Amino acid sequence: MAASLSYFDESHQLVRDSVRRFVEREILPYIDEWEEAEEFPRELYLKAGAAGILGIGYPEQLGGSHEGDVFAKVAASEELMRSGSGGLVAGLGSLDIGLPPIVKWAKPVVRERVVPQVLAGEKIMALAVTEPTGGSDVANLKTRAVRDGDHYRVNGSKTFITSGVRADYYTVAVRTGGEGFGGVSLLLVEKGTPGFSVGRKLKKMGWWASDTAELFFDDCKVPVENLIGVENAGFACIMANFQSERLSLAIMANMTAQLALQESLKWARERQAFGKPVGKFQVLKHRLAEMATQLEVSREFTYCQAAQMAAGRSVIKEISMAKNFATDIADRLTYDAVQIMGGMGYMRETLVERLYRDNRILSIGGGTREIMNEIIAKQMGL
Ligand SMILES: Cc1cc2nc3c(=O)[nH]c(=O)nc-3n(C[C@H](O)[C@H](O)[C@H](O)COP(=O)(O)OP(=O)(O)OC[C@H]3O[C@@H](n4cnc5c(N)ncnc54)[C@H](O)[C@@H]3O)c2cc1C
Repeated sequence: MAASLSYFDESHQLVRDSVRRFVEREILPYIDEWEEAEEFPRELYLKAGAAGILGIGYPEQLGGSHEGDVFAKVAASEELMRSGSGGLVAGLGSLDIGLPPIVKWAKPVVRERVVPQVLAGEKIMALAVTEPTGGSDVANLKTRAVRDGDHYRVNGSKTFITSGVRADYYTVAVRTGGEGFGGVSLLLVEKGTPGFSVGRKLKKMGWWASDTAELFFDDCKVPVENLIGVENAGFACIMANFQSERLSLAIMANMTAQLALQESLKWARERQAFGKPVGKFQVLKHRLAEMATQLEVSREFTYCQAAQMAAGRSVIKEISMAKNFATDIADRLTYDAVQIMGGMGYMRETLVERLYRDNRILSIGGGTREIMNEIIAKQMGL
């Protein structure tokens, strides 16, 4: 499957080659073991930092490279997904949802201290928006931060937070004002802050290699300096952040579909039944043809939206469509891949078994399918 040449230039190809080598050398030999252990070594952050992978898309003066280059980020994400572990990609990549608000809106003194450490892989970053009472209705979040001199006193809890157990820094959505979206702010909370604690590591259907946690704030004292952006203007920051997260999730879904298709093709050529390869049965041949078609269409639409984002255009409606379309086809292709591989597709030793489990979160995280449809409908004036 050829990557669309028109979207990627030579510098993106260099990124792609270097991340692919990193995945082949540092991840693929160990990934099955890490998946079963439900954890990858913390050292991998340092290695990915040293290889320049964590810094892709971030400002050079803060330790990054290819600042704002959407397709460098796309190329890197696609290659990381060749690890076949959505959990590893989500865990290693949790900085990409937690860090952008710090880069864009934190006080310079905070930004200059935190960002280089995270891009070097010395510190781990997480984003904490979702609460036990709900994740879709962000404007209604309950965790409260009350100003007390030069600190905020934070009370409440968060859940389902990727890298929540191991993170050192958390970008946390809190309520500083009245009800609704106009009362939401973002705070940087650091591990070790009095009153902040991490709950149990949650057991999950998929994404085993990532850690997912509950967080508790019990009169947690956060310096006012750690306010990200303007007080009570956090909702817009969260929504802006969601655009790139939704692009990443669409890319993950397309790559999941691609891996599922590749595995299916291999099996269809090799597995024999009734005296011929199973791929020679017309019903499977046509299914594989449809799978390939759906993937190509999804990927082109996603790239098209990435190109619009790279050009600085707002694609709120279209990126929601891309996420829904890509996750729909990944649902379909991972289901079909397991079916094509028969009993072997159900075995833990095959990649499609993991793809099927890992895939399920993609239409839930970063805004559910229903919330994407709400956004699309609203943008259509409904
Ligand atoms: C593995 C994993 C990792 C995650 N990582 C993070 C993270 O790092 N940081 C973070 O903040 N969160 C994270 N999340 C949380 C995730 O973003 C939320 O689960 C998601 O936004 C949905 O919120 P909810 O689970 O509270 O569901 P709810 O909001 O309670 O929704 C329940 C159901 O109701 C539907 N629904 C809700 N509102 C509407 C509506 N208006 N119209 C139609 N249907 C509606 C939803 O689509 C869903 O089907 C993670 C979740 C998982 C499982």
